[in-house]
Amino acid sequence: MDISPAHNQSLEDLARENVLHPFTSPKGLLETGPTVMLEGKGARLTDAKGKVYLDGLAGLWCVNAGYGRIEIAEAIFEQAKKLPYYHQFSAMGTEPGIYTADKVKRLAPGRMARVLFGCSGSDANDTQVKIAWYYNNLKGRPQKKKILARNRAYHGVTVAAGSLTGLAYVHDAFDLPVLPVIRLTCPHYYHEQQPGESEDAFCDRLVEELKTTIEREGAETIAAFIAEPVMGAGGVVFPPKGYFEKVSKVLKDNDILFIADEVICGFGRLGTPFGADYFGFEPDMISVAKGITSGYQPLSAVLVGEEVWETIRDASAHLGVFGHGYTYTAHPIACAAANANLDIMEREKLFDNAAETGAYLQEKLRQRFAGDPHVGEIRGAGMIAAVELSADPATRKTFDPSKGVGKAVAAEAMSRGLIVRPMMNDALAMSPPLIITRADVDEMVDNLAASIDAKRDMIA
Ligand code: PLP
Repeated sequence: MDISPAHNQSLEDLARENVLHPFTSPKGLLETGPTVMLEGKGARLTDAKGKVYLDGLAGLWCVNAGYGRIEIAEAIFEQAKKLPYYHQFSAMGTEPGIYTADKVKRLAPGRMARVLFGCSGSDANDTQVKIAWYYNNLKGRPQKKKILARNRAYHGVTVAAGSLTGLAYVHDAFDLPVLPVIRLTCPHYYHEQQPGESEDAFCDRLVEELKTTIEREGAETIAAFIAEPVMGAGGVVFPPKGYFEKVSKVLKDNDILFIADEVICGFGRLGTPFGADYFGFEPDMISVAKGITSGYQPLSAVLVGEEVWETIRDASAHLGVFGHGYTYTAHPIACAAANANLDIMEREKLFDNAAETGAYLQEKLRQRFAGDPHVGEIRGAGMIAAVELSADPATRKTFDPSKGVGKAVAAEAMSRGLIVRPMMNDALAMSPPLIITRADVDEMVDNLAASIDAKRDMIA
């Protein structure tokens, strides 16, 4: 058997013939092939053809500490040499897994009690559903099963997490959702407001919707509510002011767990350690991934608060083991990467840079695009933002999706050396590494402006 690389074929051809790419048109890829990235340093990537890009999306919203961090690479190498693998089943453990749990818990908002590691944001949210069910079963409330989730939410793609996700392209032809998920309105004032409705009134309407949904379904049938503090893949959506505070109260009054999906917001994206810190709420459970290792290794975690932990602990008297976890739970190499990454974040005060340089990014975007005849909304805080294109900003009219305006602008930006992500309603998302400088911000904004200008003919 010979499995050495076929050097007579280009990387693009090998990918065309062998790889099923996530969130890519399988047929389209046969024509275009992939863009193959070879190297990264700081906020910049170099592709296989030598072209350099400013990575305005930090990979997939995750390379918070930037590329080329030797310290993380060395931590991975040292751990691989010392002990590449051991598990946490049956009361076993490794140093990195224990240290990472301690660090993450100390950074986390609310009163988090225990940390359970996984490998992806999706598996973290699957675990959340199981723990919400487990907790309620243990409390003698087996009928508390439904999960409240918002339209346009992105919680992952596995069977449970994909069911929580509120985007059609994750469900279509996959027979999802399969969970008892109750959908709530996406908290996007710009698109969801009714004529003459203020932002405050919009917020109150969403809270009223939550209350009436709970009344209709019965609080005794609802286990949890899950929300990203800022929706990422659904279009960088910030809720109206006061939303989480009011939602938290309704959930508490009805004994419904609040699961914060901090997979994007966690570890500094908004200039605060977590999204819950930015909005000032206290979740019962938290999912993290992405920024925990800055993407250098796959790692996620579920954090459970005191109340849930105590119930789980006390149940072991009759259940014995807690029957959940993965072969790779607290993988020592992934946790070694997390520890090195979190040390960098602390030493270099990356959350502060996300707040300060992030404020500059937000200001520059508003200066440059406010009043643009083809820009509807500029939204963001810290190191996450979106510029939404519009066919008519005065009426918030979106373009016909078949025109692919956002995709065309993102492709233009890429040809000019900037990666931004086209989202629904032709919003262009940015979520750069937290290390970026003001000069990088200027470059991003200039490039995006030039890319929009280059596509005015198509837009108009
Ligand atoms: N939750 C949120 C908020 C995300 O943004 C993502 C991925 O983008 C996920 C969950 C799923 O994470 P993963 O792709 O690691 O499964």
